[in-house]
Amino acid sequence: MFKNYINGEWVGGSQIYRNINPSDTRDLIGEYALADASQVLEAISAAAKIQEKWGLSTPQQRFDILDAAGAEILARRNELGDLLAREEGKTLPEAIGEVARAGNIFKFFAAEALRTGGETLPSVRPGVGVEVTREPVGVVGLITPWNFPIAIPAWKIAPALAYGNTVVFKPAELVPGSAWALADILHRAGLPAGVFNLVMGRGSEVGQILVEDKRVQAISFTGSVATGQRIAQACVARRAKFQLEMGGKNPMIVLDDAELDVAVGAAVNSGFFSAGQRCTASSRLIVTQGIHDRFVTELVRKIESLKVDDARKAGTDIGPVVDERQLAQDLEYIAIGKAEGAKLVTGGQAFGKNPDGAPGHYLRPALFTETSPSMRINREEIFGPVVSVIRARDYDEALALANDTEFGLSAGIATTSLKFATHFKRHSQAGMVMVNLPTAGVDYHVPFGGRKGSSYGPREQGRYAAEFYTTVKTSYTSG
Ligand code: NAP
Repeated sequence: MFKNYINGEWVGGSQIYRNINPSDTRDLIGEYALADASQVLEAISAAAKIQEKWGLSTPQQRFDILDAAGAEILARRNELGDLLAREEGKTLPEAIGEVARAGNIFKFFAAEALRTGGETLPSVRPGVGVEVTREPVGVVGLITPWNFPIAIPAWKIAPALAYGNTVVFKPAELVPGSAWALADILHRAGLPAGVFNLVMGRGSEVGQILVEDKRVQAISFTGSVATGQRIAQACVARRAKFQLEMGGKNPMIVLDDAELDVAVGAAVNSGFFSAGQRCTASSRLIVTQGIHDRFVTELVRKIESLKVDDARKAGTDIGPVVDERQLAQDLEYIAIGKAEGAKLVTGGQAFGKNPDGAPGHYLRPALFTETSPSMRINREEIFGPVVSVIRARDYDEALALANDTEFGLSAGIATTSLKFATHFKRHSQAGMVMVNLPTAGVDYHVPFGGRKGSSYGPREQGRYAAEFYTTVKTSYTSG
C-alpha cells in the first residue's frame, strides 16, 4: 500500500483507494491509503509547528532541496511519465512532457529562492528609512485536479516551499500515483519533517478540513468552478488568503487569411489532445465565412485520422477519458448538442474496448458544426474531446463571440494579419492569448491564469507566484 506522508513519516490508513488504468480497467496501478480526519489534522499541526523555522531557513537550503527534486524528476521523466499516462490516460509523449515541465518548475523555483528580495526607500520623513520585504504566508493547503497529476502539484508546491511556507497537499483522489511519487522525491531530497505533507483522500473530506482549518493561512486550488466557489466562501468566512484556477470555454478564432494547416493543427491540438481534458482546451472554434467550409473539411479529415487507443501505446494520438463519470458527462453533452440542433459531423461514439480488446473509457473525438453561441455546448465546460464550430461574419463578430463567455482563461487566433493579431492580443478578455498556436501548451517560467469566471486571485507560476506565496512587510527605522 502507498501511504500518506505526514510529519516526515509514511502513514497507512484504514481505507484505501484502488488506482485503476483508464486505458485498461483490469490494470490495478496500486492501492493508496486514504487519510482520515485525524491524520489531516496531524499534517496541519506538523506543518504549523515547523513553519517558522522553515521560513527562516537559508535560501541555499531551499535551493538545494528544490534543485535536487527537480533534477530527480527530470532524470526519471520516462518512468514517471509512464505512471502518469497509466493513471490519467494522456498519451506517453504528453505525459513525459508534463513530467519534464514539473522538473523544470522545481528548478526554476529553486533559483527563485535565491532571488527573493525587497526594496529600500527613503522615508518622506527626515532620518527614517523604509524597507519592504516579503515573508512566507505560513501553512498553505494545496488542492489539485486530476488532469495534470504532476505539473499542477509542482507549480503549487515548488513556489510554496521556495518562499518559506510549509505545505499540506491534497491531490485529486483519481490520480494519487504521481502525487505519491512526488512526495517520495521530496522526502529523499532532504526536507525537514513537517515541511511538506501529503494527505490523499476525497475532496469533501480531506479537502474540506484543509479549507476550514484556521491554522492553514492560504489555500491554492485548481479545479472546477463549483468546488472553487465553495472554497472561496469558506476562505472568506475565516479570512484566509486564497487563489482559484478553474474552468474554461476557450475560443480559437480562425480568420479567412489564416494558413489552413496552421489553423487545423492548432485546433486539433487544443481541442482534442489529452482527450480535451485541459482547462486551456479550445472547445469553441469561431471561423469566418470565407474559410469556414475548407477549414471544416480539413479538420474533419484530420480528426478522423487520429488514433484513439491505449495511452501508453506508440502511435496513439488520444488516450481514453479519465473515468466513467467523465465519459458519461461527455456523452451527455453530445446528446445535448444534438438535441439543441447542432450537427455532429464526426465522432462522439464511446467504445468500451480498444483494438487489443482492453476495456477502457474510449471516445471518438467529436465535432459539431452549425452551432449557435447560446447553445449549452458553447457555454458550459464539457472537459472532453468535444468541440464546436461557430460561424462568424468577420473579425469583429468573431472577437465579440470569443469574449461572449463567463470564462476567460485562454484564447487563440489563427491569422496572417498583424493588424488582427495585434488587435486580438489587446481586446481578448482572456488571461492568456495565443497567435497561430494552440490555446493549450504554455511555458513554465511565465504567469499562468485567467480572468472573469476562470480565475480568482494572483497568477500562478513564474515570478508572479510570489504574490500569492508571500506577504509583504513594510518596516520603518529611525536613526
Ligand atoms: P474538482 O472536482 O473541482 O476537484 C478539484 C480538487 O478539489 C480535487 O482534489 C477534489 O478532490 C477537490 N475537492 C472536491 N470537493 C472539495 C471540497 N468540498 N473541498 C475541498 N476540496 C474539494 O475538479 P476536477 O474534476 O478534479 O478537475 C477538472 C476541473 O479543473 C475542470 O473544470 C478544469 O477546467 C479545471 N482545471 C483548471 C485549471 C486552471 O489552471 N484554470 C487547470 C486544470 C484543471 P477529489 O477529486 O479527490 O474529490
